[in-house]
Amino acid sequence: MAQENMKDPFSIAQEQFLKAADKMNLKEETKEYLLEPKRIIQVRFPVRMDDGTVRIFKGFRVQHNDARGPSKGGIRFHPNVSLSEVKALATWMTWKCAVAGIPYGGGKGGVIVNPKELSQAELERLSRAYIKAIAKFIGPNVDVPAPDVYTNPQIMAWMLDEYEKMYGKHTPNLITGKPIEVGGSLGRGMATSRGGFYVIQEIEKALGKKLSTFAIQGVGNVGGGLAKLLFDAGYKVVAMSDSHGAIYNKEGLNVDSVLEHKQKTGKITDFEGADNITNEELLELDVDVLVPAALEGQIRKDNVDKVKADVIVELANGPTTPEADKVLYEKGKFLVPDILANSGGVTVSYLEWVQNNYNYYWSEEEVNKRLKDIITRAFKEVYDIHNKEKVDMRTAAYILAIGRVAKAQELRGYQ
Ligand code: NAD
Repeated sequence: MAQENMKDPFSIAQEQFLKAADKMNLKEETKEYLLEPKRIIQVRFPVRMDDGTVRIFKGFRVQHNDARGPSKGGIRFHPNVSLSEVKALATWMTWKCAVAGIPYGGGKGGVIVNPKELSQAELERLSRAYIKAIAKFIGPNVDVPAPDVYTNPQIMAWMLDEYEKMYGKHTPNLITGKPIEVGGSLGRGMATSRGGFYVIQEIEKALGKKLSTFAIQGVGNVGGGLAKLLFDAGYKVVAMSDSHGAIYNKEGLNVDSVLEHKQKTGKITDFEGADNITNEELLELDVDVLVPAALEGQIRKDNVDKVKADVIVELANGPTTPEADKVLYEKGKFLVPDILANSGGVTVSYLEWVQNNYNYYWSEEEVNKRLKDIITRAFKEVYDIHNKEKVDMRTAAYILAIGRVAKAQELRGYQ
């Protein structure tokens, strides 16, 4: 089972940081400060269930760093949420915002819950109770949340509403990934996927070759969106998966029909015109590009040798362990790390926040154009460091990000 031999996510995040930091001339105090989050909030809060009973939930909000701007990062609802995971995700957000060059630090939130077991009314009460519990520690210029795994625009709307009721004023810039009607940005829903799509186009230019076949693990907001963009652009998506399993057709899947099937049946498997395979088998397919777009720790020491794809684009956060990273690099695979590949989401979150600050809204074309400019510039900056320093793309992205954060932190000083 994938999770069993996983290292804890925060030690992985620290290991990745140190690998790059050790190649840089960082001051000792800067290194020590950036190694751990600045602030960790743990909350317990009661929620009334539909049957009248009360359940107590545990949640977290971690602010890793805010030297470059307010902390920024999503909120995850998942039964496996842990403090270590939230700390890792918050740390990755610091680097991601710095790679993208947007004026934010890193944060992340999570609640230990299986939202699939809750009714809509219970989910609403849980969302409101969680935001109320962390309200004192967040804010438009302090820490700006957004959706992550199993949270969505509706949940952001409930959270915003609860916060605005507490403070008695409109603050759409509190939270991003909102529905359009309450201050969301056009293009936010597809932003992470679209960013990934632009990255794939940049990889083709950088490597000077056409990438044709894709396997996508995880068909949620991010993986499903990328599958659709690739399909519409004429690429071949041969495999897709969700938490129930995977499907494969070497001639290519009709992504529209697959998504419709998932919508109708609640799962991706048993799709007519494809074979059921396991999630493990999906990772091992002979495709041009493998896109992990589900959860952490999917490509590990024990399965990395079976990965055949030459290009890996990490749309999920933390899907590859450091040991696996090393093997992939030694084998000459080209891996675009999460903090670059999936930065489209936070980039358009930033554009949403800018529009909220202006109280003036852009067209979808305007948003997509700005996203493309930001992510292609970031790709080129990372690719240059990869070539100059002869390091893997992850280390290159970390060198770029840590340099920017360290500079801001040192300019602020330590007094
Ligand atoms: P989501 O909840 O919409 O989708 C998650 C998908 O993963 C679902 O289809 C689920 O069935 C599938 N899944 C769960 N466990 C799986 C397993 N063991 N094997 C295969 N599939 C499995 O979440 P999302 O927003 O699409 O996020 C997916 C990943 O992308 C996460 O790592 C998240 O942190 C990252 N990410 C999301 C955004 C964003 O804007 N939503 C931005 C950056 C990064």
